[in-house]
Amino acid sequence: MVGSKFWIAKKPLLPTTQFLEVSEVISRRVVLHFPHRLIDQPIVCRLVKEYNLEFNILKAHVTPEEEGLLVLELSGQDKNYEQGIHYLREVGVSVQPLSQDIIRNERRCIDCGVCVPICPTGALITEPLTRKIHFYDNKCIACELCVDACPFRAMEVHF
Ligand code: SF4
Ligand code: SF4
Repeated sequence: MVGSKFWIAKKPLLPTTQFLEVSEVISRRVVLHFPHRLIDQPIVCRLVKEYNLEFNILKAHVTPEEEGLLVLELSGQDKNYEQGIHYLREVGVSVQPLSQDIIRNERRCIDCGVCVPICPTGALITEPLTRKIHFYDNKCIACELCVDACPFRAMEVHF
């Protein structure tokens, strides 16, 4: 189960049974907003060096207000991940899950299906029986191809 911990017995078992905590490896997509004062700081490097996290940059740019935006896929032991996120927030980086930033506006979507073949990750799928479109935000990499393709502007980016 994602984010859960489990325990294994450590050998030898005598004189008393000892237990080691084993963290689970997790992978999460997050949106980071860096205030101007932090955009030239090696903050992501510290996630690697000090928290042993791996990252994959999905999107990066600097806004006209010189705020930094990074969309990352972060992977590592769940304990390290939590500590790394805590570090980011402590230094002033805003962190939120990617799923809060790419949204399918259900009031605008008419299930036309135009976006389905465009999405490179299979995050937009046509349900075979109902022909309704489902958005699996856990697969979304924020490429924004669907945003440009949707004739009804139903796919929204809230970075
Ligand atoms: S292209 Fe837009 S309106 Fe059509 S299914 Fe996709 S989100 Fe809905
Ligand atoms: S932003 Fe990209 S990955 Fe996400 S749903 Fe749209 S096309 Fe798919």
